[in-house]
Amino acid sequence: MNRGTVTGGRVLLFALFLSSPTAIMLVVLAGAGRLDVWPALGTWVVVTSLLLPLVRSHLGELSGLANWVRSLAHGGDIASAPAKDGVALAEIAASVAALRRLWQQRSNELAETARWNASLLENLPDPLLLLDSARRVVRANRAATRLFGRDPAGADLAAVLRDPGVTEAVQAVLSGAAASRDCEFTQAIPVERTFAARVDRLDGQPAFEAAIALLTLHELTAIRAMERMRADFVANASHELRTPLAALSGFIETLQGPARDDEEAREKFLGIMAEQSGRMSRLVADLLSLSRIELNEHSAPSETVDLARLVTSAAEALKPLANPRGMELALDIAPDLPQVTGQPDELAQLLQNLMDNAVKYGNDGTSVEVTLALAETLPPGAGAALRSGPVVRLAVRDHGEGIAPEHLPRLTERFYRVDTARSRKMGGTGLGLAIVKHIVNRHRGLLTIDSRVGEGTTFTVWLPAALP
Ligand code: ADP
Repeated sequence: MNRGTVTGGRVLLFALFLSSPTAIMLVVLAGAGRLDVWPALGTWVVVTSLLLPLVRSHLGELSGLANWVRSLAHGGDIASAPAKDGVALAEIAASVAALRRLWQQRSNELAETARWNASLLENLPDPLLLLDSARRVVRANRAATRLFGRDPAGADLAAVLRDPGVTEAVQAVLSGAAASRDCEFTQAIPVERTFAARVDRLDGQPAFEAAIALLTLHELTAIRAMERMRADFVANASHELRTPLAALSGFIETLQGPARDDEEAREKFLGIMAEQSGRMSRLVADLLSLSRIELNEHSAPSETVDLARLVTSAAEALKPLANPRGMELALDIAPDLPQVTGQPDELAQLLQNLMDNAVKYGNDGTSVEVTLALAETLPPGAGAALRSGPVVRLAVRDHGEGIAPEHLPRLTERFYRVDTARSRKMGGTGLGLAIVKHIVNRHRGLLTIDSRVGEGTTFTVWLPAALP
């Protein structure tokens, strides 16, 4: 029986209080002469004494209920409810228990929401920092910890992110001068990275301790590089077109003017003009195929292509270029090679660009070796498409001057040439390898380049084989 303890004085006081109507009645009867004083007093003492155990029991139950409610407020158990003899007490206890259950449910929901908020904040890909009124980092998510190399929680923002623009924007929001601010900053170390920063004042109840502002960072490095590349591309393309165009208009003027009647000069100039217009049309054709391949790059081709047949016909087509220089095209095609999943025209262009380069940049009298086989191992960087099944390996090897290692990472950029004058002299557009790279990407394959200065270069293309 869970009953509270009640002091005797309180019990007596309550009993006296409850017996007061009887006392008044006895006083009235005694005053009217209907009852003697002593019997009246005796009656009152008897009534009060009879009330004493009743009062003690009820007060004990009430005190037990109060203790239980107090224990609930400090996390006590509903099951330990005191014995409820009276109907009213039972009702009060049931209502308190229901209230407590509701409150528990609500606080569980709040805890769940807080956990969910924290996990959302933690897993967002952009770095986020919650700041208090003193510019201190209250909390930082995983991306922010990764960016700064440590968890910045507890530090002054200015010590974590030393950029006057960001500090000023944060200060403006914290002081209430602005509700939000945007700015951009560049981190120079360890590599140059550009970020867009946004500071927002948090309205309403702070979700995390004393946080009153949110600083979000979004990396712009790739977008900026892309913008620079696009601008460079337009500048390069116009430059490449302007040179032959200037040559053409110059010769047209000469032929219309001073060399009008000079038969010999006319023949010579027309030859150069034909060469320049050929260069322009090659450039336009390459630009068009590059943009077409780029446009389709997101969707992998689904046809099956016999690469061996394409290699043989590409080699045939190159003979007129190779033979006069004493060069030989040596093909080594593995028997029973599976077909590859691809787009025939694009793969034909890839072969032509690689084999044409090998002949162009190979030394006179050497051979160009083209190997086609099933890959036994995969190079690092092979994607999921290559790792999920058999792979066909195409290698085009030349014995030319080779390429110095510092040029290798940039070789597949548009218009990147190791020796611009030499490339132009040989009719190159500077777009061949960029086209190869995009075709390989679209085919979910891989391109690797190995070169030794003075010995030659090997371009290897890894393509997913078509499943029978
Ligand atoms: P280009 O039209 O100038 O040949 P590419 O995009 O095909 O343009 O090649 C880019 C540059 O890469 C070339 O200018 C050349 O400097 C270099 N290169 C390409 N293939 C070879 C090779 N087989 N040997 C040496 N250098 C090469």
